[in-house]
Amino acid sequence: MNDQGRAAFPPWLEGRLRELVQLVGSGQTPPGLLVTGPKGVGKGVLVRAFLQRMACTEAADGLFGCGRCNGCRSFLGGTHPEILEVTPEAPGKEILVDSIRAVIEFLSLSHGGPARMVFIEPAEAMNVNAANALLKTLEEPPGGAMLLLAAAQPARLPATVRSRCRVLRVPIPERAAVQNWLRPLEHDELSADETLSACLDRPLEARALFDDEAAQAAWRSDRAALDMLLRSRSPFPVVQLFLECDLASLLPRLQRLLVSAHHYLVQGEADAFGRLFGTDLLRPFAVTLGMRGTAMLYQDSLQWQRELQAPLNPNLRCEDIVLRFWRRTEPS
Ligand SMILES: [Zn+2]
Repeated sequence: MNDQGRAAFPPWLEGRLRELVQLVGSGQTPPGLLVTGPKGVGKGVLVRAFLQRMACTEAADGLFGCGRCNGCRSFLGGTHPEILEVTPEAPGKEILVDSIRAVIEFLSLSHGGPARMVFIEPAEAMNVNAANALLKTLEEPPGGAMLLLAAAQPARLPATVRSRCRVLRVPIPERAAVQNWLRPLEHDELSADETLSACLDRPLEARALFDDEAAQAAWRSDRAALDMLLRSRSPFPVVQLFLECDLASLLPRLQRLLVSAHHYLVQGEADAFGRLFGTDLLRPFAVTLGMRGTAMLYQDSLQWQRELQAPLNPNLRCEDIVLRFWRRTEPS
């Protein structure tokens, strides 16, 4: 067993990795496996650890690839002949039917070697044609091939694809387990607890907040925009700051702020996310919106998230979102 690999591996994924390895060991390899769970929980890390374990020629009964053999090295270098990874050309783009045709060709080339494995992530990025092309392979996979799909939003996959896969769910882990894993990264400005709250308890995103400049910049913009939403007496400075954010990052945090406001109204104190902004700011926001306002805006925020892919003018979109808060806070 590779101790180094094990030390870096997220502990909350170990049980899931063991399930996968045992599944293959028992000869019950499903042709399609769909790994679901929120963004940042480690679905890709889990599948890649499994693929490396399958590629490793020295793993014996261990849970992890050794990291040294030819199998591990070619997997880690992205050149393993029996393993193919499929991702969109750029983040946020669709996976097109040509990529799935390449998968079908890759699987058809197998000649008695070990079973081939294909990993598609994020699977919900497949467009309709791509998903339909994949469906035929899921129905009749050649020679023990295994298709692994990871999706944060599995509902966006056609039901026909989902129904042909065995589903492995990776939930948001217990906070204590993640805190221990993050603690070595803590420094004066950020604690493991605060980063986890800022990242809505998604561990890999919390880790990125320690060492990834883009993640840090996104959090700073989101935090400034939400802080202004809590502070400002006028909607216009809020719209300006919303425009400087990536809504894909901001909207889940905005939604979380509404949960914090609701929590304050029920419990009379701020939760971990609310404390990032301070109870003094959260209290008037929560009290002015009231239970009904927070609930209705939460429903609205689900709709805003669904509309993220729609080609809307950013100014109009941000104005619409922010003004909805002002309408809800107007005395009726
Ligand atoms: Zn190995």
